[in-house]
Order: sequence, then structure tokens, then C-alpha cells
Amino acid sequence: MADNQDKNANSCLFCGLNGAGVLSKEHVIPQWLLRHLDLPVHDQLFQGVGHSESDRLLQTPRIHSTYNFVQGHVCKDCNTGWMSRLEAVAKPMLIPLIDQDRSIEALSASEKEVLGKWTVKTAYLHGFTSPLNHPPQVSHLQVLFGDKGSPLPGVSVFGMQSDFKKPSGYWITRQWPFFAAVAPSRRVTGESYKIGLQFRHLYLLTAFWPNPNWLLMLAKGIHIPLFSLLQNRWPNYQAEPEVGDGPVDQLALFCNSLAILGP
Ligand SMILES: [Zn+2]
Repeated sequence: MADNQDKNANSCLFCGLNGAGVLSKEHVIPQWLLRHLDLPVHDQLFQGVGHSESDRLLQTPRIHSTYNFVQGHVCKDCNTGWMSRLEAVAKPMLIPLIDQDRSIEALSASEKEVLGKWTVKTAYLHGFTSPLNHPPQVSHLQVLFGDKGSPLPGVSVFGMQSDFKKPSGYWITRQWPFFAAVAPSRRVTGESYKIGLQFRHLYLLTAFWPNPNWLLMLAKGIHIPLFSLLQNRWPNYQAEPEVGDGPVDQLALFCNSLAILGP
């Protein structure tokens, strides 16, 4: 399927519906979550974009007013239909994870599946609402549509629970440490993405690597696999975590340290 964002400029990102009055505004961070995080109205979402080949910040972290962070390209039917039902199922499992009253490891397989879809949906809304870097391809959003929709094969979701500096954060990068004789091509790297979200103690990473001959590789003690349609064996490596003091540094480390293992 060709991705044509210009043609779809007035269409719902998920179902493609267009026409006068069909679009509504979807909060990128759901309102129940904004309330749960107990953010002051003037709170700001810290976000950063990593350089693709180093872990330097490409741009100074940009700051949104969290409450006004909305995506206007979601139709009312999606908003009040499957997306609303997804929130209702995900919310009771997210709250204890965010507060670190429950561990990610304790989630059942079906809970991980729900959390995986919720994470990918929320990550894509962030990507499409922040024009800082290429957002994911539209076809990656369309496969999520409906109660039976599911992330694209090749998309994996990872979690981590840790301490934090800010109640919420967002990070997008195309940086991948790699273990292979030959570096991955720029084309493949250019199609890939890592989108990280942090809500208090809960860190969630949506990662896409387009070439199925490579395996995603976990940093030991950092990444816990939540969802993947393609991969069920997870090689790992010993990362040397150096966490800086900035508001998104912990999130950046979580995202940047996910590696790939060559064929
Ligand atoms: Zn729609």
C-alpha cells in the first residue's frame, strides 16, 4: 500500500474516512491518563528526537502543553468506538503499572496483547502530532483499526519500570546499536523507528525494524518484551547504561539501547 499523506490530509488516520464533520479531536495522551498523572494544567510534555547514528540530541527537547496535545485526524467513529473501548480495557492494567504497584512481568499474555496495541496506538498519535521527525507510515496506523486490528508484523513493544524525573515524556529515534559484520543500510534504517513513551514509572517502547532477517536484541535488565507478532526469541547484550540528568535521559537510554542482531 502506498503511503500518501498529502492525499489523506483530511482523512481519519486509522480508517481513512473523510468528509465534512467526520473528524474530531483525540487527546494524544488520553484524558483519563492526564487526570491520573495529576498534571497541573500548565504541565508540559518533554520530548526529544535522537540523532539516527549517535545518541546526541538532534534538537533541543521541545515542549508541548500536555493538555492541548490533540490529534485532529481521528474520526468520531474511531474516537468513540474501538479507541474508546481500547482505553476502557487498557486503563485498569495501566494504572497499577504506572504507579509501580504491579510489575510488567506479572501481566498475562492477553493483558500484554491489549497493552501492546494501546502502546502502539498512543505512540503513533504522538508521532503524527509532533512534526519533529518522520512519523510512522500511514499503513502502520491503518492496521490498528477496529476491535480486531493489530500492530503490523515487524512492530514490537517493550516495557520497563524505573524511576523518573518528569511525570511524562516522549522520545523518537532511529538509532540502533547493531551486532553484525555489515552495517544495516540507510534505507532500512530510514524506514525504521523507535517511539518511546513514559508515564511516571512506566516506560513503553514501540519499535519497528523493516527487515525480518534481523532480530531485535534486548539490553540486559532493561527491555521486557510485551508484544511481537514475528519474534519470540530474544537475544540480549550487556549495555553500559549511562543515564544523564535531563528530563528525558532515562527514556532516551531505554529507547536507544534496543539493538539489532544481523543475519
Ligand atoms: Zn476513523
